[in-house]
Amino acid sequence: MVKSVQVPKLLPIKDIQIQEGFWAQRQNTNRNRTIPSIYHQMDITVRLDAWRLDWKPGQPKPHIFWDSDAGKWIQAVAYSLAAHPNPEFEAQVDAVVDLIEKAQQPDGYLNIYYTAVEPENRWRNLRDRHELYDAGHLMEGAVAYYQATGKRELLDVLSRYADHIDRRFGPNEGQKRGYCGHPEVELALVKLYEATGEKRYLNLSKYFVDERGQQPHYFDLEARERGEDPREFWAKTYRYCQAHVPVREQTTAVGHSVRACYLYSGMADIAAHTDDTELADVCRSIWEDLTQHQMYITGGLGPAHSNEGFTFPYDLPNEEAYAETCASVALVGWAQRMFHLDSDRRYIDVVERALYNGVLSGVSFEGSHFFYANPLAAYPNVNPYPTSTSVLTDGHYRRSEWFECACCPPNLARMVASVGQYFYSVKSDTVYVNLYNQNRTNLQVQGSTVQIDEQTNYPWDGDVHFTINTENPTQFKLALRIPGWCRDFNLAVNGKPTSTDLIHGYSVISREWANSDEVTLHLAMPIERIASHPDVRQNAGCIALQHGPIVYCVEEVDNGPQLANIALPRDAQLTAKFDNDLFGGISVITGEAMRLDPRTWPGDLYQPQSALTYPHSPISFKAIPYCFWANRQPGEMRVWIHES
Ligand SMILES: [Zn+2]
Repeated sequence: MVKSVQVPKLLPIKDIQIQEGFWAQRQNTNRNRTIPSIYHQMDITVRLDAWRLDWKPGQPKPHIFWDSDAGKWIQAVAYSLAAHPNPEFEAQVDAVVDLIEKAQQPDGYLNIYYTAVEPENRWRNLRDRHELYDAGHLMEGAVAYYQATGKRELLDVLSRYADHIDRRFGPNEGQKRGYCGHPEVELALVKLYEATGEKRYLNLSKYFVDERGQQPHYFDLEARERGEDPREFWAKTYRYCQAHVPVREQTTAVGHSVRACYLYSGMADIAAHTDDTELADVCRSIWEDLTQHQMYITGGLGPAHSNEGFTFPYDLPNEEAYAETCASVALVGWAQRMFHLDSDRRYIDVVERALYNGVLSGVSFEGSHFFYANPLAAYPNVNPYPTSTSVLTDGHYRRSEWFECACCPPNLARMVASVGQYFYSVKSDTVYVNLYNQNRTNLQVQGSTVQIDEQTNYPWDGDVHFTINTENPTQFKLALRIPGWCRDFNLAVNGKPTSTDLIHGYSVISREWANSDEVTLHLAMPIERIASHPDVRQNAGCIALQHGPIVYCVEEVDNGPQLANIALPRDAQLTAKFDNDLFGGISVITGEAMRLDPRTWPGDLYQPQSALTYPHSPISFKAIPYCFWANRQPGEMRVWIHES
């Protein structure tokens, strides 16, 4: 039995109203287009009907992780319902919950594939077959749906399933000592514990975390039990699933990047809930490695499609970047948990980097097409990905309506629907303002209800205005995040310039707040040319443009083809201007660059450099936010631009 401590919770979504601004637009699209299109795709691919368990030999088999698609879709709908009640959404979920409830076996077991197709093989291949992963996503869906609607049916179903898993796994005689090849159930069991108060779920999560990578290796044992040679594991190494050594001996981010960030999230949860400083230090070490050596400027993770994951430090190719949408979603979740451990801005900087860039690029502006892989450069006829995760249209890499392995669309939908939960965090006497967007939020601090009304055009400019409303004068600290990209800021309280201490990246105002107190924050937001560490060989001689938290890219539709021939002089004047007509209103960056015209090339493929005159000509160029690329005419794209 482990001791448990109080951990700050994410704010209830219903208490955060996002009516206008950047995230209101994205949430409207998510609600009106993305979530309905995910439901439609799940319906026509029989992912929902599969819960009837009426598969017959000879028919196409349900996929082993269809359960998780349903779990994530339910979670996305639940978060959406919490802020925007919608009887149609609720009826759709209720119908599926009914099917899920009927699919539960008398002993509590719940899985489409292993009930309908291979009932004799339950729990026999934890390394590859995702049963516990599926359970985890259903648990997350159940908790979110209960919190949004108060309906307990699914929560009770998943609690019975968690009880079944708790009986089946553990160190005692007759139990399996295993854990899932694809982490997820660890963080989900913590959510189930938080929702039900049932401490066995927290203990079970800790068991899965600590059992991982122990010797004799469980994946070896179960492979031999199946009559297989463990050395024939297709991925060849248990680094793929972060089970190469016990988690407390791990110091770097390895393997499949989504699995990694789900595991690290579960570890951070256990560290926080059990006050486990050793495990927290492990998380910090891995965090440092991941964010300093293995993260794209977009918050994308995992350059390689071969393992859908990490390779080696500073290996960040652009055209081939896998950078799965799910990995950026998972990174946001882990970063938020690290913030709960350390209350440091650098974690929220990564939340922001991933949300505005690597997460949002995963969905089209209109909301019903998705990227699985998120490259940072695109060229015609270049597609380094398997066809199951990509689509080329007329030779161009474009978003797809759906994937056979459909992990990314509902993952993105649940993240966008829940983004308000990342705006604030309350810890004892401090209200942390982590992300900026228009909103009106009710918070409980120091026993009082405090309403914060925030007005801003962020991320397009850095002016943020808060009105604090309190029933009674209340003493608390308001901690405003000064983002890592911001090098100059100023602050006023009730119109009076105020200077404050900067604590772990937060400007902290401590006072007794009265009704209608006002705070104005100005974050200087110049266009920045970002360079990457010299060891990132793919970016040598290049810079990226960033404005506030937004990473920009150039596209062929604005700049013509052969973007590799464009170079940005070091002294080029760059201007950010708001374009009301593009993507609902965004800032674009314009300026003058130089272009080498390949039509002036004198002939053969290779030429002595001394014979060339390099006729560069000046061109006007335009860059748009990376997250909105591939929404207009197909063509090339680059984030990293040559500098001259
Ligand atoms: Zn995915």
